[in-house]
Amino acid sequence: MIFLDAAATTPVRREVLDAMWPYLTGEFGNPSSHHSLGEAAAAALADARAAVANVLGCRAGEVTFTSGGTEADNLAVKGIALARQAADPRLNRVVVSAIEHPAVEESARYLERFHGFAVDVVPVDGTGLVTPEALAAVLRPETALVSVMYANNEVGTVQPIAELAALARAQGIPFHTDAVQAAGWLPLDVKALGVDALSISGHKLGAPKGCGVLYVRGRTRIEPLVHGGGQERGRRSGTENVAGAVGLATALTLAQRDQTGPGARVAALRDSFTAAVLGGVPGAVLTGHPTKRLPSVASFCFPGTSGESVLLELERQGVVCSSGSACAAGSDAPSPVLTALGVPSEVAQTAVRFSFDSSVSAADLEAAAQAVLAAVASVRTLGRA
Ligand code: PLP
Repeated sequence: MIFLDAAATTPVRREVLDAMWPYLTGEFGNPSSHHSLGEAAAAALADARAAVANVLGCRAGEVTFTSGGTEADNLAVKGIALARQAADPRLNRVVVSAIEHPAVEESARYLERFHGFAVDVVPVDGTGLVTPEALAAVLRPETALVSVMYANNEVGTVQPIAELAALARAQGIPFHTDAVQAAGWLPLDVKALGVDALSISGHKLGAPKGCGVLYVRGRTRIEPLVHGGGQERGRRSGTENVAGAVGLATALTLAQRDQTGPGARVAALRDSFTAAVLGGVPGAVLTGHPTKRLPSVASFCFPGTSGESVLLELERQGVVCSSGSACAAGSDAPSPVLTALGVPSEVAQTAVRFSFDSSVSAADLEAAAQAVLAAVASVRTLGRA
């Protein structure tokens, strides 16, 4: 099987599992316990936090471990907006881009439904970019928070985060970015990015599912969503997932170290794969930005097919990929991301996303490109559009 669905999830890296193993077995303590086992767990958690802070270029106290990207996004969007509204009730608007992951989009809608917020959606252009002009046009004195993702999970477009964040912050508005797909591929220095909050998920970069991180800048006020024993400096109660935190810190450190190597290598492989598909499949269209895109994502529309039929045919040939985000899999509705890019719904239904991890090989992608050519031709011949 050639697995080209790494944007959905990745296997746990061997080094990550090795680093986690002691905290799943002998060193199984609760970091809040005041005996030696508990202290060992607390020390491991502190080391993991320091390692994440090192990659993000922030202080350890600015790192909150969560149960994943979804929780990190919820905590950022709801937590910051609610804290600002509590301090000043006039701050009752949030800005999100038109192509956010549901974890951000639905958090904003929750604020709208239950807390009297208005949601301002900043549009993207045909390549999926949020322009500074488009963002400037929706900022208001009442805006409590802006959230724009670093890189999109369906089409891979990378946003000019530093520029967008500077715009918001110049008006005193905190800026959050969902870096779940960017982590491992793009620089994550939060000071260079100029963001107030940033979300990461472990399972997209070789750590297990169910662990994530939210960075929150120093004095930013944030209302916790999970109440209890006050772990994570009161921001996220619940006994900490020590092994998960260690795994995430290890995976993030490894990915950061790899960035100049596999990142450039994978980008070159992606370009060859893209050229082979565009050259070999009549009418194929690359979606997203032609150059400002993740090394790890190539997504296409194949007019005259249905994305789901192409996926089935590809899987029969041993290539596993997806028609868009894993969260939307199985839904008949055209992808809201592609719709926001202006792709007509009948074309959006033909979308197929290929996404790679750092171990992808040239041979795999050459074989996959041949499989794509054959799969699309077969679907078109059989009229399974
Ligand atoms: N944000 C983006 C951009 C994602 O791609 C995903 C996962 O698909 C998430 C958030 C959610 O992360 P998790 O699966 O860890 O909850």
